[in-house]
Amino acid sequence: MEVVTNLEALAPFRGCAFVPTMGALHDGHLSLIREAKTTGNPVVVSIFVNPEQFAPEEDLEKYPRNLEQDCAFAEDVGADLVFAPTVETMYPHKSNEFLHQLHLPEAATKPKLEDACRPTHFRGVCVAVARLFDLVQPSVTVFGLKDYQQYLVIKQLIEQEGARWENLRIIGADIIRDDDGLAMSSRNVYLTTDQRSQALGLHKAIRCTVEEDMINILEDHGLEIEYAVIRDCETLLSPIKGRPTRALVAARLGHIRLIDNEILSS
Ligand code: AMP
Repeated sequence: MEVVTNLEALAPFRGCAFVPTMGALHDGHLSLIREAKTTGNPVVVSIFVNPEQFAPEEDLEKYPRNLEQDCAFAEDVGADLVFAPTVETMYPHKSNEFLHQLHLPEAATKPKLEDACRPTHFRGVCVAVARLFDLVQPSVTVFGLKDYQQYLVIKQLIEQEGARWENLRIIGADIIRDDDGLAMSSRNVYLTTDQRSQALGLHKAIRCTVEEDMINILEDHGLEIEYAVIRDCETLLSPIKGRPTRALVAARLGHIRLIDNEILSS
């Protein structure tokens, strides 16, 4: 398996199965690579800590980075290429006007969940992912349902941009959890032992069918709630009778922000 930073090396991988990540790979990411592998296409994994999706007060500087270990993990589960572009390759523009040229899909502005808590986040995500799709030209891409709103945003972005990425389809991969139920996240390394048991409140909360119960559980675990809601699976707006719903939570433990979600009915 090769690790490349240049665009020329991507050409033979046109039509690949593509897994975009920010590195610090854990079993959640590796399950995405395995899922990509099942498509039968060569698998390209990108590793890029995207500055545009972090707000100034967020953890861009201290976000965990370990390219060498990431490449070994990716190779182990069958990745064919790791693309680790520099910021200059991703954003060769002189000003940041390019950020505002992209029309954001509804899932990035309407639900008032991640979009409300992190107002500049999805613009940064969409700009990076669109650029990666332009460069890699995959035929299939795999995103984790752990970031459920992000999955919907990218799904809608692909639909919206139509012919820009010919016949590109998206696969949503199941959430991978530690044995205690905590959803795996690169940010879990920040948690102390005590905070880890508090964090289990998220997993308990998303198994409730009533928002009030979710809130009580999160509060009992000393978590600072950003949202704890039950929403329509497809739009992330208010539930509609007879349609699948999803419980979604975001909560803070000091500076650490955690999210989780689970489907409730289908
Ligand atoms: P990140 O590196 O955090 O940007 O995540 C890269 C991809 O991995 C995204 O599609 C995430 O949704 C996915 N991902 C992260 N954690 C998990 C997990 N625990 N289970 C499944 N997918 C995950």
